[in-house]
Amino acid sequence: MRLLLIEDDPDLSRQMKMVLEGGGYSIDVSFDGEDGHFLGETENYDAIVLDLGLPIMDGLSVLKKWREAKIMTPVLILTARDGWSDKVSGLDAGADDYVTKPFKIEEVLARVRALIRRAAGQASPELSCGTVTLNTNSSKVTVDGMPVRLTAQEYKLLSYMMHHPEKIISRTELTEHIYDQDFDRDSNTIEVFVTRVRKKLGVNIISTVRGLGYQLVNPKEQNI
Ligand code: CA
Repeated sequence: MRLLLIEDDPDLSRQMKMVLEGGGYSIDVSFDGEDGHFLGETENYDAIVLDLGLPIMDGLSVLKKWREAKIMTPVLILTARDGWSDKVSGLDAGADDYVTKPFKIEEVLARVRALIRRAAGQASPELSCGTVTLNTNSSKVTVDGMPVRLTAQEYKLLSYMMHHPEKIISRTELTEHIYDQDFDRDSNTIEVFVTRVRKKLGVNIISTVRGLGYQLVNPKEQNI
């Protein structure tokens, strides 16, 4: 899962990036409305955290432009204290949720998790496929109740697939949703991650769909 964070306060941005990364997300950061708008329009994110008070282009204008362009990525807005009119305008402009400053970053993380789940049609924080369970709150993965240790990239891959259980997911789509912009993608191919995740889980819930990509499958439902 990959997020875009648009926040002009460098300290707050750095702290939020750290906490959100700790929650198992890849993060791209932007410090002004123009650059943030461009990234949100051209890259594929699972959710966007958007401060409303931004240089060059304000957050509300950024959000309106995305929605006009039919970009439906879930957006959490950060509003100023007592800015009730900001919340109303933000929600009216297509924001999915808001957090009021000052906030605990953990609250932003929890709301982002919920937004991503809802966007994927998943109500419960615990996602399962066969004997494999992924808890989006604790970022823990278990097989038959036994914990499995995944690296950050392996977790992102499995989490993206488990949020989209019915879908055939291409390598390009996985690439877009598990790496941030600065990641060295060439030396870390998706195939390698898939192989490692399969091996660590010990059950094959990731099936290769020839020429198209990968799909999550419940081993019990496979006709072998
Ligand atoms: Ca600001």
